[in-house]
Amino acid sequence: MQNIIFIAPPAAGKGTQSHLLKEIYGYEHISTGDMLREAVASESALGLEVKNIMDKGDLVSDDLMINLIKNKLTNIKGKPFILDGFPRTLNQALALDKLLNDSLYQVIYLKLDINEAIKRIEGRLTCSCGKTYNVFDDKLQPKQNGICDKCGRKLVKRNDDNVESFKVRYENFLTNTEKLIKYYDDKNKLHIIDVNRNVDDIFKDISKVVTND
Ligand SMILES: [Zn+2]
Repeated sequence: MQNIIFIAPPAAGKGTQSHLLKEIYGYEHISTGDMLREAVASESALGLEVKNIMDKGDLVSDDLMINLIKNKLTNIKGKPFILDGFPRTLNQALALDKLLNDSLYQVIYLKLDINEAIKRIEGRLTCSCGKTYNVFDDKLQPKQNGICDKCGRKLVKRNDDNVESFKVRYENFLTNTEKLIKYYDDKNKLHIIDVNRNVDDIFKDISKVVTND
């Protein structure tokens, strides 16, 4: 099984695909956000360092992130992993390459047109139990309008799904990842997967990449 670096714009369905990879192939999902929270909670020396930085409102340095990833990789003992949220810049990618052997990973870029992305966030509904739905996707619609299939509670539109702020986030993503994507493309590690399709078809394509040892 190939390790994966996921690069995806907001609303590309990275969470859903990560979940499937976890369920079906036993991947370890390494999300940088979760990793930072875990480190702080563990109260380790590294965790306290992270806490100090975050309390000041500063960004965690690339070196520190690399150290956290290194620790995490030791903990998962050789299980295949998905790296989610890192690298975001070319410098981070270079630092990561010092940590990982080149042969150890593939990069999957989930490609989503901005208009499709906007449609997705406009149709997104969430439940307080954590389940998400989308009224524009046949497979992700709730069975009953506005009601959660799982727990029966009322579904709500998320506040951060505001279209204007979403557009800004999306444009920033494209600008920030341009060099990163070119870097992986030049290394022949980039797999572009069109996610303007249903979840199963996307997962089939991802499966082809990850099982190609
Ligand atoms: Zn629910």
